[in-house]
Parts: sequence; structure tokens; C-alpha cells
Amino acid sequence: MDVKSIYMNANALLEGHFKLSSGNHSQYYLQSAKVLEDPKTAKLLADALAVQINASGLQIDTVCAPALGGLIAGFALATALDKRSIFAERVNGEMQIRRGFEIKPGERVLVCEDIITTGGSALEAARAIEALGGEVVAFAALANRGFCKRGGSTLNRKESCSLPENQPLFALADFDFEMYAPDNCPLCQGGSEAIKPGSRGN
Ligand code: ZN
Repeated sequence: MDVKSIYMNANALLEGHFKLSSGNHSQYYLQSAKVLEDPKTAKLLADALAVQINASGLQIDTVCAPALGGLIAGFALATALDKRSIFAERVNGEMQIRRGFEIKPGERVLVCEDIITTGGSALEAARAIEALGGEVVAFAALANRGFCKRGGSTLNRKESCSLPENQPLFALADFDFEMYAPDNCPLCQGGSEAIKPGSRGN
């Protein structure tokens, strides 16, 4: 599956000069919401991810997505896997399981994001699940930004990946774009100004 083309065709792979949430600059920005606005595309991607997960033989009970970014991907994946779909949300900066969602002791949970960057939010959701007695058995995302190691990829895990090494990451592709520290950014050196995605209608 050519996930990059799917993102490009949906105008979900933006080209320009972006300031990422990490503070680094990049020529590219991924806006998964644009891909997932078409339910048929969301289903196509989630079905492909579910095939990978089922082929691994991993048993899971529940898919949990960190809100807001992971919600649609998580729901679509849970639908494809025919599993329960819940989400974690940030309250006063802390990721929590709310809404009356219950986690049974030993319940096997997969944490699903749209894109795994360093995996920070996914890890926080995992901690919230574990605090309630659940067992986080894997992570999944439509695509991996190239910091963490996904199954089947030759890209290595980078230091900044916060996901545990002993749990698999399922993803359909690597989007391993260059990122630059602001004081060492060739785009800045070329005279343009980095914009924060979302600040100008994207
Ligand atoms: Zn820059």
C-alpha cells in the first residue's frame, strides 16, 4: 500500500516550512485528519493495519486512542479488528481514561495513534491504561515518523523514541522526513519563516 501517495492525494502531506510541536523545523507536515475525512480511505488504511496485527497472532481486547489525534484512526482500527474502542484524553495536561470507560484487570490493550512521532502521547495513554490494571501489548499508527521502529522496517529506532522497546509498533509506512533545529535550518537560512501548522488554516 502506497500510504505516501494516499496522503499526497488527500492534501494531507503539506510542503512548506513548518514549525513542529517539538520546536524543530521541517519542509513537510502531515495532517492525517485530511486523509481520514474520507471514511472509505480511513477504512482502507485501518483494514490494512488490521491485517498486519492479525497476521502477528497478537491477541488484543481493546483499542485505545490518545485524543484528539488518534481518535479516528483508533475507531477505524477497532472496527477492522472487531474490538472495543476507547480513548484517553488530556485533562490539565495529564492523559486520563474518562467517560466511564472501564479497564478489566489484565485486559489486553493496543494503543493507536494517527502518526507516531516520538510516541509521547501514546506512552502517556499506555501509562493511564496500566494504572487501571490493563496490559498494553502493542502500539499502532497509520504511519511512523521515523523515530520509532515499526515491524518490517529497516529504519532504526532513534534515541528520542519514547515507546517501550519490548512492545511491537504496527504501522503502514515510515515518513522519515528531515527535521532541523531552528538555528540550523536551511529553510530559515533561505530567508523564509517557519509557520506553525494550523495557524494559517492548515
Ligand atoms: Zn526553519
